[in-house]
Amino acid sequence: MDGTSLAKRLVEETAAKAAEMARRTGTSPCLATVLVGEDPASVTYVRMKRARCAKAGIQSRHIALPATTTTAELIDTLAELSDDPDVHGILLQHPCGPHIDERAAFEAIAPEKDVDGVTMRSFAAMSFALPGFASCTPGGIMRLLEEYNVDLAGKHAVVVGRSAILGKPVGMLLLARDATLTYCHSRTTDLSEIVREADVLVAAVGQPRLIRGEDIKPGAVVIDAGYNPGNVGDVDFDTALTRARLITPVPGGVGPMTIAVLLAQTVAAAANQLVLQHP
Ligand code: NDP
Repeated sequence: MDGTSLAKRLVEETAAKAAEMARRTGTSPCLATVLVGEDPASVTYVRMKRARCAKAGIQSRHIALPATTTTAELIDTLAELSDDPDVHGILLQHPCGPHIDERAAFEAIAPEKDVDGVTMRSFAAMSFALPGFASCTPGGIMRLLEEYNVDLAGKHAVVVGRSAILGKPVGMLLLARDATLTYCHSRTTDLSEIVREADVLVAAVGQPRLIRGEDIKPGAVVIDAGYNPGNVGDVDFDTALTRARLITPVPGGVGPMTIAVLLAQTVAAAANQLVLQHP
């Protein structure tokens, strides 16, 4: 499953929408990025996201906060951005550091600006299949499944990993599409046996080649969201390829979809808010 070309197409469509919006309303979509501290990986991620915004005709406003920022100060910043009509989407780069209550910070993001899909309200919307923004990587995974016409109804979907930004929400999105869902995690005792039953497998762990090809059910659809040092996924790609019907490579599968969904959701958020301002 070719995430690179699907992401490219999605970004092109998004850029066209942003340009049309700017032409009609005189306003370009604007994403605010918030970073606490100077963790080099986080600095790189934010820079990448802002560069991709610029290429797609989306403005960005960066707020760099010192590592000593308290949870209360971070919440104040996010609340101000939530109230600012010139900002349409908000991205809090995480992890924010051990001294920050991240959940409390995420909840300070207005749901209509939660283009990274991190608030509890967005999680509920994913769970209930209601309008709202998806967490970006899960949203990207669902777009890949749609693109390849993967029928999910009644299929056994196994999600390995249950993080708040990836495993849990992707499971909810699969359930909302009528898959029969099993979550696995670090305390799961019989991972191989469960993986062997998966019609659709999502690996979202962060352990290189944890899922062995011999455990893939013949004909299964395999989504490898893992991204480990050395560009290695959570699935042993070469052996899994011989059994899977469809599989995402690493890199070039799920990875490129994440930023593409972030951009698409930022433009969608701007469109929703501009309609309210200029009915
Ligand atoms: P987390 O570390 O937050 O979560 C990992 C999950 O895997 C946890 O639920 C953990 O279980 C589970 N787990 C750990 N070890 C095992 C094991 N041996 N067997 C079964 N489950 C296990 O990671 P993320 O969800 O943030 O990321 C997962 C992977 O996805 C990483 O490789 C990351 O780099 C990648 N990623 C890629 C993105 C992209 O493509 N753009 C975006 C985000 C992440 P427990 O809950 O019990 O601890």
